[in-house]
Amino acid sequence: MYFCERCNYLMQDTICSNCGKKKLREVKDDDFCYFLTMNPLNAQMFEGNLKEKNIPVAMLGVGIDPVMKTSRNFNVFIPYKDLEKTTQLYKLMFGKLPK
Ligand SMILES: [Zn+2]
Repeated sequence: MYFCERCNYLMQDTICSNCGKKKLREVKDDDFCYFLTMNPLNAQMFEGNLKEKNIPVAMLGVGIDPVMKTSRNFNVFIPYKDLEKTTQLYKLMFGKLPK
């Protein structure tokens, strides 16, 4: 797997399909990788469960709601080495992974 340092995306190939960056490097265990985007409620629940399992998690708010002045969604990032555990936890909590 390869890693785009600009987007924090995991890629199968050496070119990032999101930003077009070329010559991506191999992903390292500690790279924070984009996992998925969740609504604030789910993100909060998910974050709590990840922390319980000692999986470090980073959340980045996206799309500020003009009325509420809060983030509409959160991009969730987790270390590459915890990707499998995170995926399992997600499936346990929410069912299938969104495509
Ligand atoms: Zn990229």
